[in-house]
Amino acid sequence: MRPIGIFGGTFDPVHFGHLRPVQEVMRALVLEEVRFIPAAIPPHRCAPAAAPEDRLRMLELALSGIPGLRVDDRELRRGGPSFTVPTLESLRAELGPRPLCLIIGMDAFGSIGTWHRASELPQLAHLVVVQRPGWNHSRDVALGLPWLRGRLCTAPSELAGTPAGRLMFRVVTPQDLSASRIRAMIGLGESVHGMLPEPVEEYISRRGLYLSQPRGCDASRHDSTDNL
Ligand code: ATP
Repeated sequence: MRPIGIFGGTFDPVHFGHLRPVQEVMRALVLEEVRFIPAAIPPHRCAPAAAPEDRLRMLELALSGIPGLRVDDRELRRGGPSFTVPTLESLRAELGPRPLCLIIGMDAFGSIGTWHRASELPQLAHLVVVQRPGWNHSRDVALGLPWLRGRLCTAPSELAGTPAGRLMFRVVTPQDLSASRIRAMIGLGESVHGMLPEPVEEYISRRGLYLSQPRGCDASRHDSTDNL
């Protein structure tokens, strides 16, 4: 059975730093599909700047017409803090023993030890960690966690052969982009053309998103406990 990819985030807004690495991973690991799951309330970081319905709509626009990529709004429907383990439990209940690959950026991987019920993650999914410019040091931090020991694998067939429990690092074409930078640039009136799909760019300008934002929030953006 081909694995299913799971990709969580605030997507505030979705950008090519999300889309391109995920598409590369999808091809390399021959995933059946990848579900983008926007967080309702990302625990222990600032509330997203855009409303849930705007973040959802931007994702729908970004993924529209890309085969294999789809939006899954279960965390928005569930409400409350968007912890990853309950999300994976609900996916597992629906999908049975199908291999699940939780795709995360290296920055998120660096703080994985602090996530809610983190040590249960390998029982529910494989972890597929993609490179992110500036975050290579995070790899060693997280590899020291006892519950990640002995899980490293390199062959895609290992992921397809078992429902969960492996850890894989993937080299992807670096995308030096972040949603916080895009929000800041829009706030300063700068062009973000080419950083995110055009329909998303048009939606942002039509709705007047990110023109102003609460000060101080973005400074702590990577101090998260479970930001998926
Ligand atoms: P912010 O700047 O607001 O923190 P972000 O750009 O990091 O946002 P998120 O929605 O928080 O985007 O991230 C969702 C997932 O995408 C995380 O696993 C994160 O590591 C990953 N990710 C985001 N941008 C990149 C990128 N440029 N390269 C690789 N992974 C990325």
